[in-house]
Amino acid sequence: MTRYVFITGGVVSSLGKGLASAALGALLQARGFTVRLRKLDPYLNVDPGTMSPFEHGEVFVTDDGAETDLDLGHYERFTGVAARATDSVSSGRIYSTVLEKERRGDYLGKTIQVIPHVTDQIKEFLKIGAGETDFMLCEIGGTVGDIEGLPFFEAIRQFSQDQPRGQCIFMHLTLLPYIKASGELKTKPTQHSVKELRAIGIAPDVLVCRSEGPIPVKEREKLALFCNVRPDSVIAAQDLKSIYEAPLAYHREGLDQAVLDAFQISPAPRPNLVRWEDVADRVENPEGEVKIAVVGKYTQLEDAYKSVGEALTHGGMANRVRVRAEWIDAEIFDAEDAGAHLEGFHGILVPGGFGERGTEGKIKAVEFARTRQVPYFGICLGMQMAVIEAARNLVGLDDAGSEEFDDEAGQARFTPVVYHLKEWVQGNHSVRRKKTDAKGGTMRLGAYTAHLSEGSRVAGIYGAPSIEERHRHRYEVDMAFRERLEQQGLMFSGMSPDGRLPEIVERPDHPWFIGVQFHPELKSKPFAPHPLFADFVRAATDVSRLV
Ligand code: GLN
Repeated sequence: MTRYVFITGGVVSSLGKGLASAALGALLQARGFTVRLRKLDPYLNVDPGTMSPFEHGEVFVTDDGAETDLDLGHYERFTGVAARATDSVSSGRIYSTVLEKERRGDYLGKTIQVIPHVTDQIKEFLKIGAGETDFMLCEIGGTVGDIEGLPFFEAIRQFSQDQPRGQCIFMHLTLLPYIKASGELKTKPTQHSVKELRAIGIAPDVLVCRSEGPIPVKEREKLALFCNVRPDSVIAAQDLKSIYEAPLAYHREGLDQAVLDAFQISPAPRPNLVRWEDVADRVENPEGEVKIAVVGKYTQLEDAYKSVGEALTHGGMANRVRVRAEWIDAEIFDAEDAGAHLEGFHGILVPGGFGERGTEGKIKAVEFARTRQVPYFGICLGMQMAVIEAARNLVGLDDAGSEEFDDEAGQARFTPVVYHLKEWVQGNHSVRRKKTDAKGGTMRLGAYTAHLSEGSRVAGIYGAPSIEERHRHRYEVDMAFRERLEQQGLMFSGMSPDGRLPEIVERPDHPWFIGVQFHPELKSKPFAPHPLFADFVRAATDVSRLV
């Protein structure tokens, strides 16, 4: 039977609840248990797919094509368990399901209320996949006391009562502020947060306290006494240099032991932490450093390219070097020379993005990388930019562009080397879209197979003739230009199984120049760096050793 750990937060947001959940998942795995992690978000958007990356950070895409919260990326990176569409839900999704049922007449004329109808729907969500794993870790977004979050807190309270005794525990994450003047860690905000939680019927079993330094015995005892938890279930979460130290740090603090104790699992299986010791060693003891320029649009918020940043770190770990990624706003190149900003980098990466703003700058970055023989990695929009650059500067189509940049009336402004894809094959059925379709959930989303050309650089890197990678885009490179582009040395080395959609382009005459239509960063893990990121960083390392 699956045991549930509910993870809630208090005092302030951004305490690293997602990371704590992911690290706990990794530690339970290290003790031989199977896990699945889930996120319940109280906002009213149906999913984060239509939310601005400036505001919400990256949208993490699952194999089965869901656009989810970036915390699911943490979960996957730490456990290696591929997230599914059913591992993420929001109030918006819950309410829209309840309202659809109401319209269909499923409730037989009853008055629809938050309790029981909304809470029942949340509980239905929690039950999906029950029995498949030893543990289900469910993180509730936001902090206790938020109005939007209440139905979720009520639902997990009810759920724990519905289950047999001892099947559910509650872990609460808070902040212990440090007051410099008195040299004290303050426990009062945590006490209030737990009081709030208990007022809605939830008593935490484990308290994880974020603090700058260790928690002295006196404060630990005070927290235990006033928050009604055992002293050894008060876990300190100190600031770390790297997130990949979290599993070992939490283990030293006794998090996994406290959770197993709360479930009365005794004797607890001994953990095997070799994987995380190796990861920590690679993070802490790099043998060199490479500098990568990430030329994008959403550069003010690093979370907007969360997985790209992590995958670069993993690529560094594979090569035992530290990757120093610098985020450069492509719009700078509208007015200034790209070369002045890109000189000195060992590799250039153009990540995914939407809309025209910044694209001219990205094209200049591609040109710089191509002509100066600097390793270039183009992801999604970054591949489209590489193709447009070649079409303009090598094929001679001066006005090459993408249909994404047509004006609002849909009037073409460029020769569409990249066009709006309206029909494609997914598995064994075909999907159709119109340009006027609603925005949410209508892209080419999720895992698709690509066949790699024999002898190509990517076939060598992957060491396989065919691959599966995750997609999230509306536009596609037009095969009508293939021959002209190939004559200019831009090879189409990965294609969809039906041979219609280009998935990868590369330049054999360049030290490392690859563009991919998919998002490889989503599948990279610290203990299994993605082959493309590992090889890109290797090429950048070679450059760094030459200079
Ligand atoms: N905007 C481009 C498209 O929709 C690229 C998307 C992306 O980079 N994820 O095709």
